[in-house]
Amino acid sequence: MGAGAAGESLLGLKRRARRINRALAEQYPYAHAELDFRSPFELVVATVLSAQTTDVTVNQITPLLFTRYPDARSMAEADPAELETIIKPTGFFRAKTRNLMALCNRLVDEYNGEVPGRLADLVTLPGVGRKTANVVLGNAFGVPGITVDTHFGRLANRFGWTESDDPVKIEADVGELFEPKDWTMLSHRVVFHGRRVCHSRKPACGACAVANWCPSYGMGETDPEKAKKLLKYELAPGQEELLSKLLAETHRAAEIRMESQRRPL
Ligand code: SF4
Repeated sequence: MGAGAAGESLLGLKRRARRINRALAEQYPYAHAELDFRSPFELVVATVLSAQTTDVTVNQITPLLFTRYPDARSMAEADPAELETIIKPTGFFRAKTRNLMALCNRLVDEYNGEVPGRLADLVTLPGVGRKTANVVLGNAFGVPGITVDTHFGRLANRFGWTESDDPVKIEADVGELFEPKDWTMLSHRVVFHGRRVCHSRKPACGACAVANWCPSYGMGETDPEKAKKLLKYELAPGQEELLSKLLAETHRAAEIRMESQRRPL
């Protein structure tokens, strides 16, 4: 277990971690998976595509992709050149095409074309690591999961929830601090915070809702006015209308985000 702030007991660390989670829940009541999907199949494909690119880019190509290949069977039989063309904007499109076709072939051969709902099966699929498996379990199957991506790993360290760089260890350390029922939403909130406020290079400490409980406060900009300028997406200066819409209609957050991405933010 990674120590929290110096001399902090496990109980103290848990309390502080849960305060941070509550503050993040208040700040992002609209947090959700930022990849668009309608089924476990669409989510697993979108997650594979999201490697080394943004969710926004993936969301731009998946409507066409899933119209053309609505299920594992059709994608397994795809013309690789055509699949490559559609997914090209997401980068590494040759490797991703190979992975997706291998993944879909396995789904067809061993799982009757369906995505399995168990971690042990998911991680054996081509192109699917623990992160992808947890995203799929948490969001498409309702099985609690902690999704350790680059944002989650960075923030878990800054919060003092872990001292590890290893995603499996981070998942285990953070898992000890929270009830399983909180894992999936916690993952969304922490990733939201990493994308909007606690950036890798310039964290906006002076405009951060969890600054009171963060041992890394001060590693970024602490001047409130300067820090506000570093905020991104709906928290960015000038995006007040989008933010109030998201806060007013949390249940429609994914839809509102999609609408806002169709026009320049
Ligand atoms: S106080 Fe700073 S380092 Fe801590 S979470 Fe906020 S932005 Fe990140």
